[in-house]
Amino acid sequence: VEFEASKIEQFDSFVENTASVAIFVHQNPDGDALGSASCFCRLFESLGKTATVISPNECPPYLSFLHGFADFVDFEKQTTNAVNALDKADSVLFLDFNKIDRIGTVQKSLSLSGKNTLLIDHHPDPEEFAEILFSNVTVSSTAELTFHILHASGYWSAIDAVAAEALLTGIITDTGGFSHNCSKHATYEAVAALLEKGADREKIHTFIFQSNNLNKLQLLGNCIGNSMRVFPEYGAALMTITLKDKQIYNFSSGDSEGIVNYPLSVKGINFCALFTENEDMVKVSFRSKGTFPANAFSEKYFNGGGHLNAAGGRVQATLQEAIALFEKGLSSFESELKALLK
Ligand code: 5GP
Ligand code: MN
Repeated sequence: VEFEASKIEQFDSFVENTASVAIFVHQNPDGDALGSASCFCRLFESLGKTATVISPNECPPYLSFLHGFADFVDFEKQTTNAVNALDKADSVLFLDFNKIDRIGTVQKSLSLSGKNTLLIDHHPDPEEFAEILFSNVTVSSTAELTFHILHASGYWSAIDAVAAEALLTGIITDTGGFSHNCSKHATYEAVAALLEKGADREKIHTFIFQSNNLNKLQLLGNCIGNSMRVFPEYGAALMTITLKDKQIYNFSSGDSEGIVNYPLSVKGINFCALFTENEDMVKVSFRSKGTFPANAFSEKYFNGGGHLNAAGGRVQATLQEAIALFEKGLSSFESELKALLK
């Protein structure tokens, strides 16, 4: 991963000219968004600057081991804090999203005039809502891209074990523990350098993959065992989490993380969806194998987007209506889905 010297100079001066930065992550932030944010938090603090991480909604508790997590601001619940931090900030950093609507209603409070802005992201076709844009779809994660930028910049020497661990968390979560989006050697160069800084891979693995509560495992069991519908003619499957399931399994944010991937472990299932019912809308996650464009499917039917093999969206409809929409989508993508079954 190479950068033009002028881009790195822009990054260096962004950091240098920052006294106080507001760091925005996308709605339902994941390990990549919050890992990258945590790294920047640590970096800015170690340079004697102020950094506030702002999430549009709750940060999932399974990431609470990240440095600074307790101070991450939930815009929904701590709106005043978030707005104050933004007012005070002379710089704004956007991490891990390509469209400004990924921060939801926070957009309305987002006044960027007079502020330096920087976006670091790995999703296709970014909107240009920041002055400085680092966008690269070949990397595994925003955390990996952040590594490459820092490594090329003057700030690599300021990265300590804590910051390195945050970035490694982003790489590990966005690759599903090195199972997808990680075929490029640059990813492992990043991993090697982060380990050398003192990041503890085993600790991250334990927190991310071995710290579930029993409810979450039982919710997974219900998704697979009771809610799953397979569409063999399309090589597709869906699962659901209803409002009732949320009660039964004492659902909290982050509990559905990873569940969507399971149907793909079956030979002949190349595309799958997880529908999560909310009071006001249905959130849908999509995963695919090979060339099937989960992002195009999500964009067309669920107001969403994302990566080729991992996408998401949402629709204001009942769960039944959302499922009907999915079935309609399957028939419109019939030729692409059937091509994978050959
Ligand atoms: P997840 O299924 O983990 O929520 O999301 C997978 C990927 O889909 C995310 O990394 C993100 O790129 C994308 N994504 C998820 N939800 C949305 C959404 O509502 N809108 C858009 N444009 N992308 C989404
Ligand atoms: Mn990401």
